[in-house]
Amino acid sequence: MALRKLRFGDDKILRTKAKEVNNITPRILELLEDMSETMYKNDGIGLAAPQVGVLRRVITIDIGEGLIEVINPEIIEEKGKQTRVEGCLSLPKKSGYVERPEYIKVKGLNKQGEDVIYEATGLLAVVFCHEIDHLNGILFIDKALEVMEDEELEHNNESEIK
Ligand code: ZN
Repeated sequence: MALRKLRFGDDKILRTKAKEVNNITPRILELLEDMSETMYKNDGIGLAAPQVGVLRRVITIDIGEGLIEVINPEIIEEKGKQTRVEGCLSLPKKSGYVERPEYIKVKGLNKQGEDVIYEATGLLAVVFCHEIDHLNGILFIDKALEVMEDEELEHNNESEIK
């Protein structure tokens, strides 16, 4: 396992659509391990492969309820609305309110290449949406109702999502 370098801000890779994984090779498994290590090390609760410079459709999530690793994640159902303050490891010092579905159903593959389905509400639903957006070159600042910069953040320490 190894830490990977995060990509930040205007890095073009963050704006590029990631490719589907067709074969779960040892390289993809190593990527997943490195991603979760990098996510934990940076106190993040989610990470998408483009954030470590790899244009593959792979995400890791842990909101404190255990590690979730999904290959080729896709939202197949969504319901309701919620608004939370989001941040992003690739956009340090920025945060903003983003409207997301309250409930989502996600399908994808696990590390063994088996189909998996996740149903998520609340914070977990938001993190799935945020990370899947990364795979399409979308950042939360594109959707935020208002983007707050660091100074405001110190007064408003609500950001739960990194
Ligand atoms: Zn992010």
